[in-house]
Amino acid sequence: MHELSVCQDLLSQVQRIALERKARVVERIRVAAGPLSGVEPALLRQAFSIARSGTLAASAELEIESGPVVVRCRDCGTDSQVPSNRLLCGDCGTWQVDVIQGEDLVLMSIDLAGLPEGTTNDGQQENQHHV
Ligand SMILES: [Zn+2]
Repeated sequence: MHELSVCQDLLSQVQRIALERKARVVERIRVAAGPLSGVEPALLRQAFSIARSGTLAASAELEIESGPVVVRCRDCGTDSQVPSNRLLCGDCGTWQVDVIQGEDLVLMSIDLAGLPEGTTNDGQQENQHHV
């Protein structure tokens, strides 16, 4: 199952971030699954419930957003947000475009708990990590 390996990559990133910040528990994981990533949210959720056991995220909640598809035109260089079934330049209409967003599963943020005394938990990991 594709989702299971995606999930294992995701969890290893989450685990690494949690360990760096010395957290004991991961409470929530937010991801954006691009419409072109081939990731089925329902299957990802199912894979997550298997893959998380034994990790710091064993009781974490998984939130999945779909995120936009963005293409860059090879002719005029415009970036446009487009429907996933219509990959055309929003400006000049050509199909000579490169997908620059929407093909990845991206870790958006995680909520951590059990942080050491004196560490502030802002609840957010702002950096985006491509899986
Ligand atoms: Zn164009």
